[in-house]
Amino acid sequence: MPSRFLSWVFVLLLISLPLRAKSPELSKAVQEFVRVNAGKAVLTHVRIVDGTGAGAVEDQNVVIENGKIAAVQPGADVPADKSTAVLDLHGYTVMPGIVGMHDHLFYIVRPNLDSRRHFDDPVLVTQMTFSAPRLYLASGVTTMRTTGSVETYADLNLKRDIDAGKLPGPHLDVTGPYLEGAESYFLQMPHLTGPDDARQTVEYWADRGVTSFKAYMNITRAELKAAIDAAHKRGIKVTGHLCSVTYKEAAELGIDDLEHGFFVNTQLDTDKKPDVCSQSEGDETLARMDPDTPEAKDLINTLISHHVAITSTLPVFEGDLGVGRPLLRQQALEAMSPQSREDFFLLRQRPASAPAPKIDPALLWKHDLEMERAFVAAGGLLLAGPDPTGRGDVLPGFGDQREIELLVEAGFSPVEAIKIATLNGAVYLGKDKQIGSIAAGKNADLVVIKGDPSRQISDVENVEIVFKDGVGYDSRKVLDSVRGRYGQY
Ligand SMILES: [Zn+2]
Repeated sequence: MPSRFLSWVFVLLLISLPLRAKSPELSKAVQEFVRVNAGKAVLTHVRIVDGTGAGAVEDQNVVIENGKIAAVQPGADVPADKSTAVLDLHGYTVMPGIVGMHDHLFYIVRPNLDSRRHFDDPVLVTQMTFSAPRLYLASGVTTMRTTGSVETYADLNLKRDIDAGKLPGPHLDVTGPYLEGAESYFLQMPHLTGPDDARQTVEYWADRGVTSFKAYMNITRAELKAAIDAAHKRGIKVTGHLCSVTYKEAAELGIDDLEHGFFVNTQLDTDKKPDVCSQSEGDETLARMDPDTPEAKDLINTLISHHVAITSTLPVFEGDLGVGRPLLRQQALEAMSPQSREDFFLLRQRPASAPAPKIDPALLWKHDLEMERAFVAAGGLLLAGPDPTGRGDVLPGFGDQREIELLVEAGFSPVEAIKIATLNGAVYLGKDKQIGSIAAGKNADLVVIKGDPSRQISDVENVEIVFKDGVGYDSRKVLDSVRGRYGQY
């Protein structure tokens, strides 16, 4: 714990209720993690990266009152009083809470995984209802889309309990069950039997409080169209991790967002047949998608003219690159259960018998980064999320931070990368009046970081306090509560 914080002039944790009109009463379990919860708090002498893509502004005061950002002012010493917490944040940066747009609440289990990378069917998707929300919050995520649910009731009830102050976690945009076609690798997804089934599934879950949908790899165009129309009738957006439907087809059907950057577009795959997923699941297409080609330009134009966002999920592809990549962070390893840690090492260790990939992952990586840059340069809305699945090394929260770092590797400036991970998500969700950037009147969803991510992007990992609706959570304490749990529950 930095000594700076120990030098707070005065912090009063219990404040009379009328000052906290907005926040719900927090349960004991949540209060355990609270570091700042005063009617008014002032972050003094802090560097601001405001989430709009503007450059960092040195030495500012951020005034938080009743869960909102009341003012942003030039840095000054402020006297604390019994209703005001004052934090001296020399050397710190504050940025908006991350709006994570591919932030699952589950883990993928491969039964009986062994050193030859063999495992038994069926692959299972197990809920991380305990550990994932904590990892997200501790890492600076204050709003997130679940981007496909497996236990939808659990996710909806979790959202209710977080909003009621009973459990710790970010604000949730709960995505309904994956809208998947008849053929599927995943046993726990609905396997739609036709357009009518798609429409009914959307209506059923929208009636139960789901606020977004995600189409999956084997959905047909007719099913996707029926789902999009049913969702749009209720003002709900649809995203997709597609394969059977190409990006262009989906854009023309009215989809709102496409997951995984440009990695899973199948329009140039040689064996692509309508409504059927191709063998390479998009690798062939991306290998041919140099952004200077007419196909790439036409694709980007189509996406933008149909107002389709793209969600960048670089961390889940980074592992395919193999050598030269940073090791998994110690804190992330510590968050994993012993079993998930072992599985991660088994999957990382490429056995000699494993065939080399047909298409060089480094070429795909290069083309995707270039396409994401070209999409943004042409005016497209790029969103960010880690997709915490893969070989188990992409973790909730840590992965959101890594995504920001990889956007910088893609060529975005640090403040642009932070905008993609904050304000852009808020814009997509239609919540940019309330969240996504630092401005007076917005919700006080803020991340306090030691260092300066506008100069050194890896500083986004140095999260110390995460404010959600004006309540400051101690990142370390929240992380400690899930040590050794991720991959278990
Ligand atoms: Zn995913």
